[in-house]
Amino acid sequence: MGGTSDFVCGDLGFGNLVPVMIQLRIEDWGAMYEDVTRRAKVEACGLVAGVGGVSAAVRAIPNIHNSPYRFEMEPSAQVSAQLEFYASGWDLLAIYHSHPVGDAFPSETDVRAVAYPDVVYLIWARDEHGAWFCRGYWLGTGDIVPVVLGIVSEHGFPENV
Ligand SMILES: [Zn+2]
Repeated sequence: MGGTSDFVCGDLGFGNLVPVMIQLRIEDWGAMYEDVTRRAKVEACGLVAGVGGVSAAVRAIPNIHNSPYRFEMEPSAQVSAQLEFYASGWDLLAIYHSHPVGDAFPSETDVRAVAYPDVVYLIWARDEHGAWFCRGYWLGTGDIVPVVLGIVSEHGFPENV
């Protein structure tokens, strides 16, 4: 999308080709990790900016419910972040949130609540050892479609996770 041609694309079935992979800079991955571990007792949430399928910034947003079972982004912080993205020439690449007591898979509520059909939904959860990890999905059609997440460092080599 956005003029890049080097992304592998898939058809979600409603005529739109979407990337089946996005790339997250390691510092953006780290910013999300930092946020979900800092707010480990509640669902952390936030926005990921990007250009051409590669992340450019992460903004943590307060969860107005402060709950381990649900999240809703604080509206004014969400709008501020989106205005900043717009002013910076960034797209909204992904929305992340965490499941402190669940797995890294969209809940029925997550699928119902999708407001941005062309944005990747990133879900953080803990593995059996308590370590946080993340998975990505397209949810825009009502189906749950996995998206490959690549981590890129300054050195340029992508590493699938
Ligand atoms: Zn969720």
